[in-house]
Amino acid sequence: MGISQRLQELVRKRDGYRCAYCRTPEALTVTVFEIDHIIPKSQGGETHESNLCLACPTCNRYKGISKTAMDPESGEEVPLFHPRQDRWEDHFAWNHEKTLIEGLTPTGRATIEKLKMNRLQMVRIRGLWRKIGIDLDASFSDLSE
Ligand SMILES: [Zn+2]
Repeated sequence: MGISQRLQELVRKRDGYRCAYCRTPEALTVTVFEIDHIIPKSQGGETHESNLCLACPTCNRYKGISKTAMDPESGEEVPLFHPRQDRWEDHFAWNHEKTLIEGLTPTGRATIEKLKMNRLQMVRIRGLWRKIGIDLDASFSDLSE
């Protein structure tokens, strides 16, 4: 069964119309963001608010049906970032220019690698947003509703 319109709206609004992983605001892109099952349905994840988040199509695709990934520093398999149970700020930080996301924990580093959160196109466009004065911490909800 699909995700009801009401539930999709709730998740989109709750997540601030941003990708819960790479924090890209949907309003700055030309794509439609997707509702991600954090724990994949195929692995028992429920279609419930607590297991859903908004994700850009690229993060969602690279995440696929994974729950874990390898920490590039230790080589160990660790849980991926869980947007409903973990706080983004505990696992990730922006560099000074806000072009790169840095991993603060094994989970943060593994998630950045797996979802390619610093893919070249992403880094380039973040640099462009900065150049034209877009504050990524601003609210984009008025552009998204
Ligand atoms: Zn993303």
